[in-house]
Amino acid sequence: MYREVREYTASHHVTLVAVSKTRSVDQIMALYHMGQRVFGENRVQELMDKKDLLPQDIQWHLIGHLQKNKVKYIAPFITMIHSVDSLDLLQSIDRESAKNHRVTDVLLQLFIATEETKFGLDIAETHAILEECRRTPLTHVRIRGVMGMASLTEDVAQIRHEFRSLRLSFDDLKKHYFTDIASFDQISMGMSGDYRLAIEEGSTMVRIGSALFS
Ligand SMILES: *Cc1c(COP(=O)(O)O)cnc(C)c1O
Repeated sequence: MYREVREYTASHHVTLVAVSKTRSVDQIMALYHMGQRVFGENRVQELMDKKDLLPQDIQWHLIGHLQKNKVKYIAPFITMIHSVDSLDLLQSIDRESAKNHRVTDVLLQLFIATEETKFGLDIAETHAILEECRRTPLTHVRIRGVMGMASLTEDVAQIRHEFRSLRLSFDDLKKHYFTDIASFDQISMGMSGDYRLAIEEGSTMVRIGSALFS
């Protein structure tokens, strides 16, 4: 399925993050040989275990919940962190990135699903974080946009509604904090089961695992 998904996302100018959690080095290399360079992992330990066994030109994205005390392990190399869900975490990423003389691209993870199990900020918390960043700018993170996960449901209208709400939140944040900042330009939404829907609703970056490896 990899080539199909890649063609579809490329034709829509959407970045394909190949989610390689639970996949072996050989499975990842198979996609690498077909040209894939952007991979996503959701756990720091698993990412660290695999990274050194794989080519250096892979761009790694951290897509799962991140604990502050683990930021130091990934700060030297991570390309993007999709899962920023607190000011504390954002400040840790800023500090660890500064130590490594890097600026790390991050997304704010917004809660859009109806389930209680998923991580993420509500819109008020997101505004509070961005107000604080306005008062005290962070120099070693670049906030590139938002990320969200839709509910695990078959209800297409519900999923569409959740993706649309993330898009509207992105527009709202852009207007308030990033009007002249072209780098606030990413909406990470869409997985194997719902990426076409997500792209219809304005996704710029999809995180796809199972559909690529089947
Ligand atoms: C596993 C995972 C994905 C990919 O899910 P698939 O259904 O396998 O495509 C996307 N985003 C996050 C945060 C994940 O943990």
